[in-house]
Amino acid sequence: MKISSVFPWQQAVWQLLVQSRARQTMPHAFIFSGLSGVGKLHFTHAVSAWLLCQQPTALGACGQCKSCQLWQAESHPDYRFLQAMTDEKTGKTSRMIKVDQVRELVSFLNKSAQLNGYRVAVIQPADILNINAANSLLKTLEEPGANTAIILLTDQPLALLPTIRSRCQHFSLSLPSTQQAKDWLLPQLKKPEQADLLLRLTENAPLAALALQDAAGFQVRAELAQSMVAVVERKVSALQTAQQWQKNLKPEELLPALQLLLADTLLMVLGQDSAIKNSDLLPIIRVLANRLSATRLIELHGDCVESQRLVAANIQANLLLDSFWQRLQ
Ligand SMILES: [Zn+2]
Repeated sequence: MKISSVFPWQQAVWQLLVQSRARQTMPHAFIFSGLSGVGKLHFTHAVSAWLLCQQPTALGACGQCKSCQLWQAESHPDYRFLQAMTDEKTGKTSRMIKVDQVRELVSFLNKSAQLNGYRVAVIQPADILNINAANSLLKTLEEPGANTAIILLTDQPLALLPTIRSRCQHFSLSLPSTQQAKDWLLPQLKKPEQADLLLRLTENAPLAALALQDAAGFQVRAELAQSMVAVVERKVSALQTAQQWQKNLKPEELLPALQLLLADTLLMVLGQDSAIKNSDLLPIIRVLANRLSATRLIELHGDCVESQRLVAANIQANLLLDSFWQRLQ
């Protein structure tokens, strides 16, 4: 893994860590929280390499020592990264981190460090620890031994058990200013003119904005909005439209795109045009706003949110989407 420094918008939290290490008041259990796409994992990698490094500076890991070499080769013996497991046969990723995984981690943390420095364990994301897994982590969070860092990442800190939260020091990684986000994003975009739009659509989360430029759900927004108009105006059948879109786009991409279009249409109905995120689609959103009432938009938006929850829980998406398009009509 490459050693990199933290992003400019993460400097404040970074300085807190540097100071507490200098004063030897470093916590041993951390929660790094923040909106998806704000760069939590990037920050965690920089902190992990710096903790493990044998000659750390206030700027981060040295990049030269034995520990840093092992880090770059992704074979550091004193580092563990815990995430949901993917079944090799089905390719499906579990929705939980299970107790066996945590037990293995605890036994790693109970051994002494092979390089005589820190041992670092990262759990990503910590809000999918199931209850047994979370409970088996508690004792280690309480008495982790010297030179140990357990880092929990989450978009939703309140979804962690209070007993976990109370044993960790919480660092919230905030969003960059629009200027910081743009400065970072612009040189990396294929179409720099999309920077503002991408940041609007992702609430200014730069890594999410960067990923969005290639997302199928981003590229088909106009077409999707046109389909919505055609269905509302009864120019096409709801069922055919549902089937066509299910062929073109995964429900995980389709539902958030629909949800955002409905939210934008509602904003227009309410006269809040300046808050609309799909700011390049105003004319077509206006057509939808003339056809759908605020009440219906709120219902349909609720359907979308609920459907995403069900799809995440492995409920079949086809029926949910069929019914969505029918209700839209
Ligand atoms: Zn080093």
